[in-house]
Formats: sequence, C-alpha cells, structure tokens
Amino acid sequence: MNELYDIIIIGGGPAGLTAGLYASRARMNTLLLRSLSVMGQATMTDMIENYPGIERTGGFELINAIEKQAKAFGSNRLDETVTKISAVEEKGAPVWRIETDSGTHKALSVIVASGARPRKLEVPGEDKFSGMGVSYCATCDGALFRDKDIVVVGGGDAAIEEAMFLARLVKKITVIHRRDRLRAAKILQERVFACENTVFEWDSVVEEIAGTDRVEKVVVRNLKTSELKDLPRDGVFIFIGWEPNTGFLKGVLQLDKSGRITVDESMRTGQKGVFACGDCCKRPLHQVVTACGDGAVAAHSARQYVEELKGVAYK
Ligand code: NAP
Repeated sequence: MNELYDIIIIGGGPAGLTAGLYASRARMNTLLLRSLSVMGQATMTDMIENYPGIERTGGFELINAIEKQAKAFGSNRLDETVTKISAVEEKGAPVWRIETDSGTHKALSVIVASGARPRKLEVPGEDKFSGMGVSYCATCDGALFRDKDIVVVGGGDAAIEEAMFLARLVKKITVIHRRDRLRAAKILQERVFACENTVFEWDSVVEEIAGTDRVEKVVVRNLKTSELKDLPRDGVFIFIGWEPNTGFLKGVLQLDKSGRITVDESMRTGQKGVFACGDCCKRPLHQVVTACGDGAVAAHSARQYVEELKGVAYK
C-alpha cells in the first residue's frame, strides 16, 4: 500500500517550491513531484531583477535557492512526470490518486503547479530545425550563436529581455514583431532601443524557417504591405508566450479556453482538495514573485483543508 500524503505538489518551479516550503514548515507530510523534462520559465530566464530584496539574479540560481530552503524544512521530492490525477471517495472525502511515469501516489490534497511551456510559432521549418538553429531558450543556447546573425520573434518582456542577453553574444539581432510597438515593460524597451546591434522588423510575422542541415534563412511577411522578404540568418529564438502544462487535467479541473486552471482567491479549483498556483493558472500577472505568492496561498489553503478533514484544525 502506498503512503498517504497530506499534500502532493505537482511541479518544481517557484510556485511549487514555495508551496513545498510552506507545507513542510506547517509539518504537513508533503511530496513534490517534478518533471525533469519540463523547463519552466524562471529556469530559462537569464536575469531576474524584479524579485523584491534581490537586486539581480539568474533564474537557475533563484530556483536552486528556493529548492534548498524547502529541502531544509523536510520537503520530499521525486523526479516523476504526472500523467493523470483522479479521486476515490473514502469516508466522505476524496483521496487523490496521482499516476506518474514511474508509479502511483496518494494524497488527501493536491497542489497543481505544473507551469507552462514555450508557445510555438507553428510555421514550416520550426520543428525540423528545433535544436538546429531554432531555440526557445537564450540562456541554454545563446553561446552557440556567438558572432552570428539571428532573429528574435516576439514583443513581450521575455522576447526583449532575452534579446538583450543575446545582444551581448551575437553579431546582429533582428527582432520580428507582429505589431508596430512592443508589449514589453517600458524600462526594457528603453534598454533594447539602446542596443546598437539590434534592429526591428515591425508589423511582421515569420512565414517559414528554411535551410539544409541548419537554419539558413527566415521568410518574413509584412502584415501591412503583404511583402515577403528573405532574411539570411543563423538562428531563430522564439519568445511568443507560454502554454500551460494542463493536458493531464482535462476533464478533471475547470480550464479556461487557453487551458489555464480557474482558481478562486484561495487558489481553490472547483474540485475538493485540489489547489493550483503559478503559470498553469488563470492569473492577471505571471511573474516569479506572483508565482511564489500564489504557492504560499495554495499551501495555506491545502493545510487548512487537510486539518479540517482530520479534525485537527485550529479554529
Ligand atoms: P507575452 O507577454 O504574452 O508576450 C508574447 C509576445 O509574443 C507578444 O508580443 C505577442 O504579440 C507575441 N506573439 C504571441 N503569439 C504570437 C504569434 N503566434 N506570432 C507572433 N507573435 C506572437 O509573453 P512573454 O513575453 O513570454 O511573458 C509571459 C509572462 O511572463 C508575462 O506576464 C510577462 O510579463 C512575464 N515576464 C516578465 C519578465 C519580467 O518582468 N522581467 C520577463 C519575462 C516574462 P502581441 O503583443 O501582438 O500580443
């Protein structure tokens, strides 16, 4: 028979780790399941400078620090990918069964913090050249493009921050954005416009990524004139947003049309004993600091739920 945990947390990004930290400090019997194949947005970020109290840090460094802190309070972690969650009614309350690629675990409550993955452009050549010039992570792949000509696709915070990181390594960057202005924060805009080796193709989209063994060119269409243009380039970095990792929850939790989990202010989902936090949820702002805040609230709500279930709640 499997151990019955108080809380199982699905996801090892800032939201899940913070939930783990809070749950362990509350002395809940907690298990955190983390998929090694999933790289979250924070770990793929070169520089974070809006996490209060820390002037500047790398994504990896911040995640490692939170992880170390959670572990110190006794948080258990297994590197397993969750494939399904389901409930069995026992003594009037659901016991959650978490199936993974390596086995099954049981818990009185679940916190889903499964994060999100990079959105794809869905254009010809994107899959073929993935890892051969097409990348979704500047921190991981930037060094491979030293002194090369590349394009960055997107106009949000991620595209502009990553473009500035890449600008220090590559010869020239062309940012391709589908509008005539950036969505990114003003401070990032000021900085990117000051980068001498960065130029912009406004009102433009990528139609195709082409080459033989590796990326050699990008075909770009101007949305205002419909003109097509070949840009000979060595690499394409795509930062056009994120899609939630919630496929395994379809039919179990209420998801919005983009697949994000609907939660209330206590991070409760519509299912008894299931809470959610971070980038997999529908939230007005997705940042490391909000993911951590949501993780703390989710753990607090899960603890209250479990203590009421066990009849040991402090009222
Ligand atoms: P985002 O804010 O959703 O921006 C995505 C960008 O990609 C937008 O400019 C969008 O264009 C464009 N786009 C979307 N789909 C596209 C498509 N199919 N073809 C071409 N362009 C497309 O995503 P993000 O930049 O990844 O950021 C995600 C979240 O993380 C945001 O909340 C962001 O603030 C946060 N973040 C924060 C920081 C920071 O605070 N330093 C850093 C990174 C990320 P439109 O503008 O036309 O919609």
